[in-house]
Amino acid sequence: MHGDWSIVESPFRVETARAYEGLFTLGSGYLHVRGSLEEHLCGAPQNLAYTRVPANVTSEKFPRSKVRWGTYVPGVFARHPLLNNEMVNLPFFLLLVPIVDGERLDCERCRIEDYRRELHLNTATLRRSLRWRTARGRALTVTFERFISAVRPHLCVQRMVLRADTPAEVTVEAGIDADVRTNGYDHLASVRLTPAGPDGIHCSVRTDEGDMIEMETRLRTPSAAWCYQARRRTARLAAAFPLRAGSELTVEKRTAVTTSRDLQPAAPAACLESAAGLSFEELHEEHAAAWRRRWEACDVIIEGDPASQLAMRVSLYHLMRAHVPGDPRVAIDAKGYAGEAYWGRYFWDTEMFLLPFFLYTDPERARTLVDFRVQSLPGARRNAARYGYPGARYAWESDDAGNECCPNWQYADHEVHVTADVAYGLLHYARATGDESYLRGAAAEVLVDTARYWMRRIDWREGDGYPSLLGVMGPDEYTPISSNNAYTNRLVALALEAAAEYGASGGASREECAEFARIAHLLPILRTAEGVVLQCEEFGRLAEPRFEELWRDRSQTFAAQVSQERLYRSKCLKQADVIMLMALFPHEFTDEEVRRAWEYYLPYTTHDSSLSAGVHAIVAARLGAVDEAWRFWKMSRDIDLDVAAGGAAEGIHIANAAAAWQVAVFGFAGMRSAMQSDVLSLEPRLPEAWSRLAFPVCWKGQRVYVEVWRDRTGVTNRSHRPLEVIVAGCRRTVGPGTREVWEARS
Ligand code: BGC
Repeated sequence: MHGDWSIVESPFRVETARAYEGLFTLGSGYLHVRGSLEEHLCGAPQNLAYTRVPANVTSEKFPRSKVRWGTYVPGVFARHPLLNNEMVNLPFFLLLVPIVDGERLDCERCRIEDYRRELHLNTATLRRSLRWRTARGRALTVTFERFISAVRPHLCVQRMVLRADTPAEVTVEAGIDADVRTNGYDHLASVRLTPAGPDGIHCSVRTDEGDMIEMETRLRTPSAAWCYQARRRTARLAAAFPLRAGSELTVEKRTAVTTSRDLQPAAPAACLESAAGLSFEELHEEHAAAWRRRWEACDVIIEGDPASQLAMRVSLYHLMRAHVPGDPRVAIDAKGYAGEAYWGRYFWDTEMFLLPFFLYTDPERARTLVDFRVQSLPGARRNAARYGYPGARYAWESDDAGNECCPNWQYADHEVHVTADVAYGLLHYARATGDESYLRGAAAEVLVDTARYWMRRIDWREGDGYPSLLGVMGPDEYTPISSNNAYTNRLVALALEAAAEYGASGGASREECAEFARIAHLLPILRTAEGVVLQCEEFGRLAEPRFEELWRDRSQTFAAQVSQERLYRSKCLKQADVIMLMALFPHEFTDEEVRRAWEYYLPYTTHDSSLSAGVHAIVAARLGAVDEAWRFWKMSRDIDLDVAAGGAAEGIHIANAAAAWQVAVFGFAGMRSAMQSDVLSLEPRLPEAWSRLAFPVCWKGQRVYVEVWRDRTGVTNRSHRPLEVIVAGCRRTVGPGTREVWEARS
């Protein structure tokens, strides 16, 4: 890894190829392609059928394969016989292979020197260069570049440049391979490959769900005589080029992808046509300019610590890439459209992890994420009905239509907090943007319908005198069926309060709203005699987890080393649960309470989930335990970047990527979210290694730039209205266009 703006793979190693494929995913929101090699690797078939069965994804073993292609258009889902709806892996269109003296470029088998592949985060461009010494002793320099246009989201542009030291006869093959599987399953009901003019291929695919995918590839090379060949589900164009010593051959490949789901239907040929007058450089320049604008609105600058700076930018890059602009029919799936491990589905990750980044940097993009839940309300209603409840129950693992797709009953039946998290997200949107009217529109129906579900989901146990939520799984998925999970109860109370306040706009009567409010106030948060907030009623009576004895290999998850039933009967946490609650509602717990919870739960927490470390870093920073915060920040920072440990092989841990932003902003800069404070408020605590942390924030419609140094904090008001700001308890008004600086108290 080098510099602050690019990730580098050098040299090529087959063991880490799959992790780089995930990490180097390119995307325009609309279209995403894993960072696979243009020429592919021999002996890595992509059409292997296997049966993936329902399992705990955290400890699941994925079939070994050197590399794994992935082409995704968010929203293209189809039904898997065992796993329910999953995002379909579409044909691989990057194929571009040089062949010299009959030798195909293959980074594993050929003699390759000076291999360097670099993802330029600032321009979302992937570049690779290498020296290839053929078996016959020829030396060639090969470079590949590609990007998926941020301006023309259906278009992927590739370029290959070959330079030979001695005269050579080079054959180039370029194609589309539709012989692909999704999680080992074939979702392509029909594939039609045809030539598109003398230098193109058209691929038309119908999924088993009936969606049509159209792809068209065109090659741009002066005076080439391409020869079309198709075999089964693969089509290639091949041409021979004589290369003089020292001369260069440039092959440009452009592919456009459209689907029958598109909001503005178009043929791929039309997309290609509209870009035909522009050169590679011109297309790249408009794309790079769009990315520059994105970065201006969100870049987090970390000075003094290049590793953290780079990791932060990797996270922000994937967040921006994975968001689908202007299309509320989809959100961001748990693997950031960079892998199939979570079937392209939407989790609570959307509201609790991803949403804040967008809310405070680009509220327009945040809007599609909250609208996604509003538009999938019919699905949530169906889920409630299926479980025998009125109202709406959001899916633990949602497809685009809001259907519950989770194939594991434990989560599907019991991890109900997602329904309250959805309400939290709607409220957060309204508060952070200052657009309260949002909650009086269609969102009010979500509040009312989810509240109606909760009203029937609660139980009144004999003798209790208060309502309970029984049989729930909190965020900690290792305590599967528990009573009065503190996180769930608090979020449900919040959701009910919101329904009480805005319910009239969503069709609730005054009496119903009063009832929502009454129950909200009665839902308990339980504590031990020593004042520790209890994760759930049962927690203290579970077995000790015996980590010393049972969790020998700490490089692997605990779940991978013990049986599920042991997880379920032991005091072991997969991820932050009470600590997550405290991260969200810091104003409701004293520092002493947070400290007690920290000391009690931390020794039991495995962090098997990638959603854990970031939350711990935020809470530690707020407690002033900066060293602890730093330790967790580093743990979270390396999750996708640690290619040797697998990193992003199965996709980007996108909630963790979003947590990176939260750790910097909510943790180290100590910003209170709009759910926690009406006034922009900061309590900075920089880690030792950071000399400056700076980032833009959009606070209730006002653009602000925050800079934190070790001895002072600056806030620049980039809007036209004065802004109240509190830094470390000291309140000031920052005039429009001016900067205020707060000196740190020593
Ligand atoms: C975590 C969940 C998360 C899901 C998708 C699971 O391993 O426990 O909290 O929502 O992954 O990221």
